[in-house]
Amino acid sequence: MTGNIAEIASACTLCGACVEVCPFFKATDNPKYGAMAKVEAAIALFGGRDLSDEDLKTLYLCTRCDGCHASCPMDIPISVVIQAARAELRKRELVPEKYNTIAEAIIKAGSPMAAPPEKRIAPLPEGFRPPDKARYLYVPGCWSSIRLPETARATMEVLIKAGVDFTTLGEREWCCGLFVIDTGMMEEAKKLAEKNTLLFESTGARTVVTECPSCYDVFKNVYPTLFRKPGYEVVHITELLDQLISEGKISLKEPEKRKKVIYKDPCPLVRRCGIAQPPRKVFSQIGELIEYKESGKDALCCGAPAGVKSLYPDIANRLAEMLMEEAKKKDAEVGVGCVFCMYHMGGLPKEAGYPPIKTLSQAVLENLKS
Ligand code: SF4
Ligand code: SF4
Repeated sequence: MTGNIAEIASACTLCGACVEVCPFFKATDNPKYGAMAKVEAAIALFGGRDLSDEDLKTLYLCTRCDGCHASCPMDIPISVVIQAARAELRKRELVPEKYNTIAEAIIKAGSPMAAPPEKRIAPLPEGFRPPDKARYLYVPGCWSSIRLPETARATMEVLIKAGVDFTTLGEREWCCGLFVIDTGMMEEAKKLAEKNTLLFESTGARTVVTECPSCYDVFKNVYPTLFRKPGYEVVHITELLDQLISEGKISLKEPEKRKKVIYKDPCPLVRRCGIAQPPRKVFSQIGELIEYKESGKDALCCGAPAGVKSLYPDIANRLAEMLMEEAKKKDAEVGVGCVFCMYHMGGLPKEAGYPPIKTLSQAVLENLKS
């Protein structure tokens, strides 16, 4: 992969159009952390030159949010260049130790936090026993089932109320492998693609529903390139909730007071998969929907994915603060399409007085007509 990508990266004219669109420039005001510096560092690396500590830092200070690609007049897929650069750094044994720990946890224990498998049954609603076979398979993903189980529980409660024939994998669920993909470990990613595709197919489900936008992108767009076309379709929970409401399978009550809700687009969902309207349609039935100054395809990344939260927490938190400060200033609650955004943005110190933050399922559950 690296040879071809090195050639693609070499088309960079250093025009600077991608510097300021990068969230890490916005968080630090430092052009060294903008997208162009990352491409320059990658070109130097592919050319066999030694990298400075700042070059290494900028290559790891990237969530692969794809905020930069559209700005490039040479159509350079910058996040793919960074992925290939990280693969090259792995060959040269220049990967930060924390990254090895996370990758090993995913490969050996099935989640970035190396949680015991039984943690994944915590979100099951009382009395719900997932059947062996069902029309839908709900996959909460690591952050929803392990770190914020109340989010996966809310989704399952809504699906039960809507009469959806679904199951879930519980202890057998395994990480999608986004982190190993983001860090260019493609052989390990192929094994995860095969393992998860076969596991999902074993449930007989015709549709896999994901809570996490990254799982959605990985299952739908990446796995078919790493393994094969699956025997199921993939939908995101925001699409399914919109569909269930349109079909009258769930109804929402008119809220007593229409609070403002500001929707935070998840980067993979809006930029890689083009899903922007379904969550907005549902949130706008629950409250007065307002927008971030950067929204839709221009949405600001929360700053956490691809190991950035672990390695550079202060910079990652700065982006979360920027998003929460804007919501606070606009007097709006935050609606998210991503539980990792929620974990990151909602985990800021409480003293800042930031507004509440909810997933779409949580907001729907609170507003269901009984
Ligand atoms: S993918 Fe996102 S974080 Fe990475 S260089 Fe591009 S804009 Fe910056
Ligand atoms: S926008 Fe494209 S050509 Fe311009 S500096 Fe960035 S990567 Fe290079």
